[in-house]
Amino acid sequence: MSQLKVPKGTRDILGREIHLWRRIEETVYSVAQLFGYQEIRTPIFESTELFARGVGEGTDIVQKEMYTFLDKGGRSLTLRPEGTAPVMRAYLEQGFAVHEPRVKWFYLGPMFRYERPQAGRMRQFHQFGFEAIGFESPACDAEIILIAWTIYEELGLKRLSLEINSLGCNHCKPGYIEALKNFFRDRSEELCSNCKDRLERNPLRILDCKVETCQTVLRSTAFPNLQDFLCEDCKKHQAELLQTLTALGIPFVINPHLVRGLDYYTRTAFEVKTGELGAQDAVGGGGRYDNLSQALGGQRVPGVGFAAGMERIVLLLQKEETETSSERSGVYLAPLGKEGERYLLVLSRVLLQHGIPFYTDFADKTLKYHLKRAQKMGIRWVVILGEEEIQKSVFLLKDMISGEQISLSQEGLLKKLQEEISGAENTYLR
Ligand SMILES: [Zn+2]
Ligand SMILES: [Zn+2]
Repeated sequence: MSQLKVPKGTRDILGREIHLWRRIEETVYSVAQLFGYQEIRTPIFESTELFARGVGEGTDIVQKEMYTFLDKGGRSLTLRPEGTAPVMRAYLEQGFAVHEPRVKWFYLGPMFRYERPQAGRMRQFHQFGFEAIGFESPACDAEIILIAWTIYEELGLKRLSLEINSLGCNHCKPGYIEALKNFFRDRSEELCSNCKDRLERNPLRILDCKVETCQTVLRSTAFPNLQDFLCEDCKKHQAELLQTLTALGIPFVINPHLVRGLDYYTRTAFEVKTGELGAQDAVGGGGRYDNLSQALGGQRVPGVGFAAGMERIVLLLQKEETETSSERSGVYLAPLGKEGERYLLVLSRVLLQHGIPFYTDFADKTLKYHLKRAQKMGIRWVVILGEEEIQKSVFLLKDMISGEQISLSQEGLLKKLQEEISGAENTYLR
C-alpha cells in the first residue's frame, strides 16, 4: 500500500519550530491580557451563509477559496476562512448588542482557504486577531494598531512600517466605487482576466492585483485617489487617528491604494509590513467594519480589528533563530533495566512536585545510548539508575558539560537539581 500524505496545502508543525509557535501564541496572550482583551473561540466551521454575507459575495474568498461542503443533514457548511465574521456572529447571537454593547476580544486558531500553496501561505493557515466592537472613536482604531505594533515589536520583528488608508463610509464610498468603475472601464483592455471579472463585481479588489499590466494601470496619474472622495466625517476620523498615531510615536504612510479584500470594511484600513522577508511584506492588517453587523442581519454596530497570519511570522523568526534555542532545560532520566524504569517513574512524581522538568527514555538500552540521546536533545543533566544504584539507594547524576558524575541520595539529588535548574528556564513542560 502506498504511504499516506497530508493533504496539499497542509503540514505538520513539530520539532524546533513548535517553540516559535508557542512564542507567538504566548506573546499574543500576554499582550491581550495587558490591553484587557478577552479570548473568544468560535467553531472551526460555520454556515456558508455567514461568510457569503459577512465577507461578501463579490470577494475572491467567497468566489473561489472556501472549503464548503454539505453535512449529512444537507446543511451547507464552510471551514472558516477568516475570524471577524464568526466573532461578529457570536456577538449578535449572544445578545451582546443589547446587554454589553462594547467588547474587546481576541482569537487565535486555524483558518482555511483554497489557494495555491507557497512559502508562508497554506490552505490550513493560522491567524490571531483582535476585535474591538461597539466603539466609534478613532482612538479605538489607534489602540488596535498599537496592539499589532506591540506584538510585532515584542516578537523582535524589525523595520516595521505602517500603511494606512480610509475606505470611506456609506455616504462617500459609493462615489469612489463609481469613479473607479469609470476609470477601469476605459482601460479594461489592459486589465488581467481576473480584474476584468472584478471590474463590476468588486472593483476595489483590482487595487490589490499584482499583475504587471494592472499595476501599470494603477500607476496612471488619472487614477482616482480614495482620499479625494472622503466626506467630512471620514476626513475627520482619519485626521484624528493620524494625530493619535503621531502622539504614540508610530510612524505611518498613507497608501491610497491600500484596500482590504473584504467587503464590509469602512473608513480605516491598515497594514503592518516588515522589510525582513526581502520585499516589504505584510505581517498583518485590519481596519474598521461598521457595516458588518448589518450584513449579518443585526443592528448597526461599529467595530475595528486586525488579524495576522502566523505562518509568515514563523518564517521571519526562523531566519534569526540561533542554535542555542534548541537546548532543553530539565533532566534526562536514564534507567538501566526494568527496575530502574519503575524507580525513575516514581522519582518523576517527586520532580513534578518540585517543578523540575524531566524526560524519561524507556528504550531499555545501554548507558552509552542514553548519554548520546541526552546530548542530542541538548539536556545537560542526566540521572542514571542501574542495579548498583538501586541497591545502594542512590542516584548517579552526570553533568554532560563537565563530564563529572556524582552519587547522591534522593534528597541530595533534588537539592542539586533545584540549584542548577531554575524555574525561569523551564521552557520544556509548559
Ligand atoms: Zn464618509
Ligand atoms: Zn489584475
